[in-house]
Amino acid sequence: MSKHFTLIIIVSTLLIALLTVVVISRNLPTPAVDLPTPVETPTTITIPWSEKIVIGQSVEGRSITATRFGTGDTHLLFVGGIHGGYEWNSSLLAYQMSDYLALNPGEVPESITIHIIPDLNPDGTFAVTGVVGKFDLRNIPDPSTRVAAARFNANSVDLNRNFACKWAPESSWRGQVVSAGTAAFSEPEAIALRDYVITINPAAAIFWHSQASNVYASECEDGILPETLTLMNTYADAASYGAVASFDAYPITGDAEGWLASIGIPAVTVELESASDIEWERNLAGLMAVTDYYSRVTR
Ligand SMILES: [Zn+2]
Repeated sequence: MSKHFTLIIIVSTLLIALLTVVVISRNLPTPAVDLPTPVETPTTITIPWSEKIVIGQSVEGRSITATRFGTGDTHLLFVGGIHGGYEWNSSLLAYQMSDYLALNPGEVPESITIHIIPDLNPDGTFAVTGVVGKFDLRNIPDPSTRVAAARFNANSVDLNRNFACKWAPESSWRGQVVSAGTAAFSEPEAIALRDYVITINPAAAIFWHSQASNVYASECEDGILPETLTLMNTYADAASYGAVASFDAYPITGDAEGWLASIGIPAVTVELESASDIEWERNLAGLMAVTDYYSRVTR
């Protein structure tokens, strides 16, 4: 009995001691820890004046690139080569424009950022040039012959019929039936352009094509945006091309410019006069006139 009693006393004492330690330790002030003093790190990120980025891949895995010039708040987008090797001079013009801006940063006003996608259809362009990326006139086997098949992407889709404006599976090109893809934005090239447009939200978009010697406005379901007419006239006057508000030579569905109009972005199609010349001075004047216009308007 007394043995048990002693054991109970010992166990109880130990328990009380343990509880006391726990209570005391909980009430003790937290020991001060020597934390390192935060170091002031610079938070300013310098944005380079010009930058080339990959915005997507073609059906055959060739990179689609965009080059940005400037850091202004108003973004202008120029696109060449949507019709690939059939309209290779539109890409050649876009590449030369990129070289020119890189060498002449003073030509881009502070409030403006210019984006150039030189070749939206690199598979179609490759079919004529045999070159991945930038090419020059020496890569064109016969500048006087146009290769109709090189207009399409590697799925034989006319990319300028693959956008979400009145899209239909088949469309037309000069009375000929062309594939517009399996759905709007079924083609990776169209997706690349769509996503880039959504990212930069341009004030205006200009597409270089060949050839008709005209600048065409754009529209979807809601008619032509008033600013599109200003954009059309500004470029056409400076570059000495005709200005045509409504393209009615043949019915078109799913064009990129119409899709841009549907989301409120003025877009025009610049059809060069020739299929083999880049008409450099005229298009430089057109780009500069549009740039100057948007540097003066408040958005
Ligand atoms: Zn075209």
